[in-house]
Amino acid sequence: MPLPTPLEAQAFGRYSDSAQIAAYLRALAVASGGTAVFGCAGHSALGREIPVLTCGVADPARVEDGKLRLLLVGSVHGASEAAGCEALLCLARSVLLGELRELLDVFELVLIPNANPDGRDADSFRNGNRVNINRDFVLLEQPESRALDAAVRRYAPAVVLDAHESAVLKRRTLGQEGYLTAFEAQFDVASTPAIPAALRDFATDTLLPQLIAGVQARGLHAQRYIAEIRSVSQPITHGGLTLRMFRNKAGLRGPLTVLLETPMEPKAGQYATYRDIGPRVHKQLLCMRVFLDCVRASAPAIRAAQARAALELDQPTCALNGSYLREPPDAAITLPLRERASGTRVQSTFADHRTVIAQDTLRIPPHYFVTEHTEVFAELLARHGAAFERLAQAIEAPVMSEVFAGGGNPEAACQRIDELTHRRLIPAGALRVPLSGSNRRLVPLLLEPRSTSSVFRYPAFAGLLQHGRPFFIPRGVDEN
Ligand SMILES: [Zn+2]
Repeated sequence: MPLPTPLEAQAFGRYSDSAQIAAYLRALAVASGGTAVFGCAGHSALGREIPVLTCGVADPARVEDGKLRLLLVGSVHGASEAAGCEALLCLARSVLLGELRELLDVFELVLIPNANPDGRDADSFRNGNRVNINRDFVLLEQPESRALDAAVRRYAPAVVLDAHESAVLKRRTLGQEGYLTAFEAQFDVASTPAIPAALRDFATDTLLPQLIAGVQARGLHAQRYIAEIRSVSQPITHGGLTLRMFRNKAGLRGPLTVLLETPMEPKAGQYATYRDIGPRVHKQLLCMRVFLDCVRASAPAIRAAQARAALELDQPTCALNGSYLREPPDAAITLPLRERASGTRVQSTFADHRTVIAQDTLRIPPHYFVTEHTEVFAELLARHGAAFERLAQAIEAPVMSEVFAGGGNPEAACQRIDELTHRRLIPAGALRVPLSGSNRRLVPLLLEPRSTSSVFRYPAFAGLLQHGRPFFIPRGVDEN
């Protein structure tokens, strides 16, 4: 095998560290003779480079005709979920120097294998600021989440894969009840209800079943992602529905976004390789290969779904929120678990809350005005790549202003108590935020306090809502 990965070179005796990963990607770029380009997607909280390797990308701003661009992200959760990164290094080698070379006839690949270098080197799932970056895609306070969000904007991939792992032993929750989880691969897709239905439906009804069937056919028990099981008496749902996670945020920007999760056996077990990393990488690679096969086979259907989704963005309304419910009211689902003491597989029945209902329909305004705290919101919008202009002089404009409860607790503060349509003096220096393209849905989800993806669901922003006063971000109203 040409160019052993750092993990292979260390005989699977410990994980690759961030410096080794960056060096390996540079070496692959050199060995590829120009097919691959090594770059830096940003820096971590502690200043480590977040490497990006593009394969067959001639121009980041434009995808070559007839090709599909894919962004593959590994180890957002650092060394706690190390296998995604290790597998992406193997995959990059196969694509550039090995048996998968012909994939570059159909794909342009952008790889960010080590999305959380601080967590990788500190044996943690958090970054150097001790933050779970996969909950930061609304505020974008962390450099790692900003780098991933910016990569989605810069490369505008058609498809994104976000590769995670999950411990079968939840020491403080399900493990206390005497059980381990028992799946071998899970997939989910971006599921925020504001994502155009053409894309969500294709992802859910076509791609997910293909991925699951493809992995099953290769001998792994696969299923649609089930949100972490903490208790045998809890209801079952799929993943979170807000923009706080990378999957949903990326999905609302346009790409078909897929979550992959494979299991990890307990750390304390006896394994042939360090923390069982050999089999873990094998499972990740198998799932990634199935993913690439499915995407390749579905490329025309993916393009068609994305064209329909782009048209859908012009619709006058969108759902701000979604929630899971039990439908029918007595729906139940049986899932395998393992007994912690004996390892025996058992079937356990749960209340089935996997049906999503869309809620809080918004008539999308032509623009918003930000009339106060303009510096805070100028910075926030810039972080999200959302365009705005500053009013050079005060204007009187027709707007719809909501009135919120305010107060310390974010959820209570965001309760709407009134709304009024009126002419309002918009001061000089206010921001005017036009809504077009995917921002037509992204910006309302971030700015509307009723949206569970909104910045106002965080204490620092909730504190800006004043009881009984017209909201300082009124919606513009068309004059005619
Ligand atoms: Zn994870």
